[in-house]
Amino acid sequence: MTADPVITQQAPTSTQLPATVRASLSPSRAADFKTCPLLYRFRSIDRLPERPTVEQARGTLVHAVLERLFDLPPAGRTPQAAGDLVAPQWDRLVTEQPELAGLFDDEGGVDAAEFLRSAAALLEGYFAVEDPQRLEPAERESLISAVIDDELLIRGYLDRLDVAADGALRVVDYKTGGAPREAFEARALFQLKFYALVLWRTRGVVPRVLRLLYLRDAEVCDYTPDAEELVRFERTVVALWRAIEQATAARDFRPRPSRLCDWCSHQAHCPTYGGTPPPFPEPAAAPDPLRDARSGPVAPGADE
Ligand code: SF4
Repeated sequence: MTADPVITQQAPTSTQLPATVRASLSPSRAADFKTCPLLYRFRSIDRLPERPTVEQARGTLVHAVLERLFDLPPAGRTPQAAGDLVAPQWDRLVTEQPELAGLFDDEGGVDAAEFLRSAAALLEGYFAVEDPQRLEPAERESLISAVIDDELLIRGYLDRLDVAADGALRVVDYKTGGAPREAFEARALFQLKFYALVLWRTRGVVPRVLRLLYLRDAEVCDYTPDAEELVRFERTVVALWRAIEQATAARDFRPRPSRLCDWCSHQAHCPTYGGTPPPFPEPAAAPDPLRDARSGPVAPGADE
């Protein structure tokens, strides 16, 4: 799919938001609540720190390389050029997020050279399923948002948006994790439908394709949404938000154990694993539900 340039949709600042808007929700946080209400609480209300994992860092690096790859002229978007971007992009990320360097500090930790090689291997997976010389993405790592139900701002970062000459939209999401795909596919599709809903509400076009690119397996998973489905999905998102509000008012976020617990950073605080959650933050300390919208865009990658 070739692409025509379009203007990047910026998230509205708080002063641009309709006065009716009371909260904002990203696909990651919505998916957290859907997966496990207690996980949502730990991440969004307690804001417990999560040390970046090697897998997350590798994903961030590969996303950065693929974003920069399209800065090059089409003929220059070769596997060699992508490989050459790995080390400089890692240096940039470590400068911006010094905690990433800690991944290699621990005794018995990951070898830095091997880490960079593993990122390069994922890029080979990318070239096995797409030819970037034939693509001209309309947007990369762009923040999109829409207000639904008059009160809820939904927002997130797209990895890539392709726009065909006839205006058809294709939303592309790169998946770099090594976890079993079936464990996360529902969450990934939820995220893509979230983006499809934002695009439909802001541009009046239902994306023709929602594409997951699994770089480790070098596989493509395409999904075609329709307007009726997005209407139902919008109801689901609003219902989720209402459930989050009710849980917050009642201070009642229950654990929902699943195989995703294996990837949860908060087992030590989770009753399922014998832990105790921290005291619920008092209102003055609790996060403002519009915090992200007031402080401007959150960083790309924060929405996974
Ligand atoms: S360990 Fe499992 S049940 Fe506990 S908070 Fe994490 S995801 Fe939820």
